[in-house]
Amino acid sequence: MEAHRRTPGSQTSLREANRGRIVDAVRKYGGLSQIELAGLTGLSPATVSNIVKELAGAGVLNTTPGTRSGRRAQNVTLAHGLGLVAGVHFSTRHLRIAVSDVAYTVVAETHMPLAKDHRADNELDRVTMLLDDMLESVGAAMIDLLAVGVAIPAAFDQRTGMIARRGVLRGWDGVEVADVIQRRLKRPVFVDTDANASALGELRLGAARGKDDVVFVDVGDRIGAGLVLNGRVYSGHGGMAGELGHTVIQEDGPLCECGNRGCVQAIAGGEALIQRLQSSGRGAKLQDVIVRAMTGESDSVRAIADAGTAIGIATANLCNLLDPERIVVGGELARSGELLLGPMRREVERAIVAGTRFAPEIVQGQLGVNASAMGAVALAVDRISIQPEDATAAEPGVSAGVASSVLAAERSTAREVAAE
Ligand SMILES: [Zn+2]
Repeated sequence: MEAHRRTPGSQTSLREANRGRIVDAVRKYGGLSQIELAGLTGLSPATVSNIVKELAGAGVLNTTPGTRSGRRAQNVTLAHGLGLVAGVHFSTRHLRIAVSDVAYTVVAETHMPLAKDHRADNELDRVTMLLDDMLESVGAAMIDLLAVGVAIPAAFDQRTGMIARRGVLRGWDGVEVADVIQRRLKRPVFVDTDANASALGELRLGAARGKDDVVFVDVGDRIGAGLVLNGRVYSGHGGMAGELGHTVIQEDGPLCECGNRGCVQAIAGGEALIQRLQSSGRGAKLQDVIVRAMTGESDSVRAIADAGTAIGIATANLCNLLDPERIVVGGELARSGELLLGPMRREVERAIVAGTRFAPEIVQGQLGVNASAMGAVALAVDRISIQPEDATAAEPGVSAGVASSVLAAERSTAREVAAE
């Protein structure tokens, strides 16, 4: 057999690149015919046919007979023999859904903007519809989902199953969130705060992999944190842990939405940043501020650097309390990279009581805008692998909530069966 060296442009690397293009196209668009694959990848039908055959043989792709425009055609999908889970992320402005197998191979994903004042519960019809379509595109159905993880933009109390602080998320005050979603999807549903979900996502798949003590700092319109302590996400007694945005860093500072003055969110959150730039005659969205800063526009650079310093002060306080190994920074503002991280790092290194050499690494998240959706996937994967009997022996506050969710899921399934 001829040996191929892995040099750029060699037959081997070309073939690998072509395989990657085909898998990417199937992942992105769901089920496709080989003709459609040829059209999307620019590869010849013969090449597509060979690669599909090879990847189907390797268990990466599935081919099932189907029809396209009345003609018989092979429908090519990603194989998902291990079972599927879904991760749903409601942010204040976006809905993101990922369907993945339990080994975290994403087989379908989608996202859409949400109206600024949407009611979260009203969006559930849309989630159900989108999930149905996504599952169909990979040759599966809702019944094939082992579990669904949901990340929400509000502190969530695992004990009560409700939003921890009222008035933050329209439509879900006083409602058992998992229960409501479960009734629609008829699958077990597990819910957590988006910062916690992002922390879990980065822990399993991103910048926090292999670490036991990590803080995920989420900086966007709001500022929050997901705490990973001893390898597990820590939610606190009532789900309110990680409210980093409400660390007071300036006693007589601006009024915060929480009613206190001088919270870091009121000083360095996305809204504060935009307001500050508006008063200097520049407006628009956080995204525009980041783009302008990246191109060197001095007001925007300065605004982001000052935000980094302010967030760094709050983070340093947190580091002195928790002694984490690594800080992972995510959320929209994290896209400005070192413009934000540099000042944060300087502030943490300056203020850490144990000395600079004990300062945690501060790095950008690796999952970007998908962190919470992938964290929701991880939430689902984690919870299906925990059996109820394990949970009675588990530590309170960490796994008891998990166990009660599993039990609640089973109870509600039982109720539905009984009602039918
Ligand atoms: Zn506050």
